[in-house]
Order: sequence, then C-alpha cells, then structure tokens
Amino acid sequence: MKIRMKIHVSSLNKYAFCPRSVYLSEVLQIEPKPSVERSKGLLGHAIRKEFSLRQSRILGRIHDMDEIEDALLNELENVLEDVPYIYKDFLEGIKIDEYISEIRPELLNEIKLMKEKLEIMINEVGVEDSLKRITPWKVEYPVKSNRLKFSGRIDKVMKEENYFPVEIKTGNPGDGVWEGDRLQTCAYSLLLEEKLRLKKIIPFGFVEYTKIQEKRPVMNTEQLRRRVINARDDLIEILDGKIPEICPHGSGKKCEVCGFREECYKI
Ligand code: SF4
Repeated sequence: MKIRMKIHVSSLNKYAFCPRSVYLSEVLQIEPKPSVERSKGLLGHAIRKEFSLRQSRILGRIHDMDEIEDALLNELENVLEDVPYIYKDFLEGIKIDEYISEIRPELLNEIKLMKEKLEIMINEVGVEDSLKRITPWKVEYPVKSNRLKFSGRIDKVMKEENYFPVEIKTGNPGDGVWEGDRLQTCAYSLLLEEKLRLKKIIPFGFVEYTKIQEKRPVMNTEQLRRRVINARDDLIEILDGKIPEICPHGSGKKCEVCGFREECYKI
C-alpha cells in the first residue's frame, strides 16, 4: 500500500457520512453544490464555534448571577463582529449580514439555554469551580503523528485528572453521538496520548453539541479504536485512487441531502 500523506482527522466525519464524498471532495476536488442552507450552516458553525471557545472568558467576567445574560448577549455581538475576520477564508462568498439576521433568533434561544446551564452549574459548585470546569487547557491544539498517519486540530483539550479532547459540533444532534463525531473524537484521543506521551490511555473524550448545549461522552473502547484505524486505512486507499461505489451506505436519504449528488451520479 502506498502511503502518501497523513489523513486529516476531519475526513473521518466525511467518511462516516459517505466514503464516496471523500473521493469527490479530496481526490477530484469537487466543491459541494452551493445552497442557501449550506451557506447559513457554515456561518452558523463559525459563530457557534467561536462562542463556545469564548465561554470561559465570559464566565471569568461575571461577579454576580444577574450579570450572566448580559455578558452572554454582549459577547454574541462581539462574536458577530469578529467572525468575518477570523473565519475569512471559510466564509468566503457568504452574505454574512443577510444570514446573520436570519439565524439570530436561533442563537438567542441557544444563549438562553446556555444561561440556564451555567446558572445550574454555578449554583452547584460556585463560580470558581465552574470556571475551572469549562476552561480548556488548550484550544485549537494542533496534533499530528507519522505513526498514526493522522493530523488535525483539537477544538478544546481539557485537563482534569486526565487530559481529554472536546470536539465542537454545531449541527443538529441525534439521540446519542453520530458515528463520524465518535471516530473523530477517538482519533484525537489517540493523537493526544502520543503527543503528550501519556503512560495511561485517555479513556474518553466529549462531543459538545452547541445547539442543545450538551457535552456527550465518547468512550475510547478497543472496538472504537479499531474502527478509527480501519477507517484510516480505507481513507488511505480512497486518497490513493480507489473509487467507492455509489450509495455505499445504502441510504437514499443521505444522497437526497448531499451537496455532491449531481456530480456523484454522473461519475
Ligand atoms: S450523492 Fe450519495 S453516494 Fe454520492 S457522495 Fe453523496 S451521499 Fe455519497
């Protein structure tokens, strides 16, 4: 097997959705069909991710519970101003002002939920311990490994008794953790174990679903670690030119919502 490159951990998510979409986007370099929904999704992703990364900073400014809502709302305005600069490449060509007004009501609802959850935590353990709980050790932490043949950037690394990765997801959550999110979070745990030369395994990571303000655990079982390695090997074959069949997952619903559908069915 020829190994030309490291697999970006985010490709695991695309792979879990559909291996053929990896071939179309990463080998043929086809861009998914632009749509209003996709543009709004990308903008919403940038805003929610940025807001999540600033959560501990917001809490650090609060002296009284009554200040939480105002602090969150003020920071939302800061995020809306900063996002076009921070995510300039990612948001290229998107009508930011037009879409912000459309997604603002959703963001305000999520802020209400965030406020409720922060209040519950502060009531339970106080501001200082809450701050410790939500303050990452590192954000956007780069990781790569020649041996694991992966590279990526972890949204948040938390340090308590163990280190653990947190992957921020801004789309709709399912009942549990989506397979792609599971694979990604486990791959980050493997990379962290290697980078930090940990003697013990990282037993779990978390996926933070911002729309419901919930962190859901991902246990790094042997089976999941194996699925990560198997997915990586499949991805290497795809990037080396192996073309996955059409609809390999057998789900017509996935193809209906897929931005590659038009091109995919022609090949
Ligand atoms: S249209 Fe279907 S088979 Fe093609 S890439 Fe999308 S999900 Fe995969």
